[in-house]
Amino acid sequence: MINFNDEIFKNLCVVSAPSGAGKSSLIKKVCIEKNISVCISETSRKPRKGEVEGVDYKFIEKEDFQERVKANKYIEYAIVHGNYYGTSIESVTNQVKKDEIVILEIDIQGAEIIKKKIPFSRSIFILPPTLKILEKRLRERATDEESVILERLKNAKTEVTKAPLYDYILVNDDFDNSQSQLTIYINDINTDIAEKIRKEPLIDIDF
Ligand code: 5GP
Repeated sequence: MINFNDEIFKNLCVVSAPSGAGKSSLIKKVCIEKNISVCISETSRKPRKGEVEGVDYKFIEKEDFQERVKANKYIEYAIVHGNYYGTSIESVTNQVKKDEIVILEIDIQGAEIIKKKIPFSRSIFILPPTLKILEKRLRERATDEESVILERLKNAKTEVTKAPLYDYILVNDDFDNSQSQLTIYINDINTDIAEKIRKEPLIDIDF
C-alpha cells in the first residue's frame, strides 16, 4: 500500500492546459534540466502521426485500461475528449523515489484528484492568451480532424474556468518567457503551498 503522505510525493508537479495551449512543447524544454522528468501516461487514444509508444504515451486498448482501473493501478484517471487517460501508481512512485521532480501532464479532472490525494503537490495551469490564438494553434498543428478540433475548443471553455483552483497560472504568450517562468514554478518545491503567491494575476481572458 502506497502512502501518498510520504515526503517523496513533494516532488510531484501537476501541469494542465487546454489542448493547444503549448503545454507539451514547454514541458519538453523544461525537462532538459537534469532533475525533472515527466510521468508517461497510459491512454486508450490511438496514436497520432509521429507519436511514439512509451515516449508520448503508453497506448493500450480500452478494455485493458478498464481492467487496470478495476485493479486500482492508477493514482488518477479520467475520460478526456472520449478517451481514457491515467497515471500509473507504479510508474509515478518509481520516479518520485529517484528524488526527481516529476511532472504529471494531466487534465483538470485528474488534477483535482491529485490535489485531494496529495495536497502538498504543486499545480500549474497554462493558459493561451486568447481563444482565437488557441484555435489557430490547434489548426496549425494539423494533427486532428475538424470535429476533434471543435470538441477541444468547446472543452477549453470549461477547462479555463478551473484555472483559479491551481497554485500557479501561466499565460503562454511568449514561448521563451513562459519556459523560464514554468521552470521557476516547477522547481518551487520548498515553498509551502499556503504561502504561495500567484505570480500571474488572473487576467481578463476573452474566452
Ligand atoms: P491529448 O490527447 O491531446 O494528448 O491529451 C488530451 C488531454 O488528456 C490533455 O489535457 C492531457 O493533459 C490529458 N491527459 C494526458 N494524460 C493524462 C493522464 O494520465 N490523466 C489525465 N487525467 N489526463 C491526462
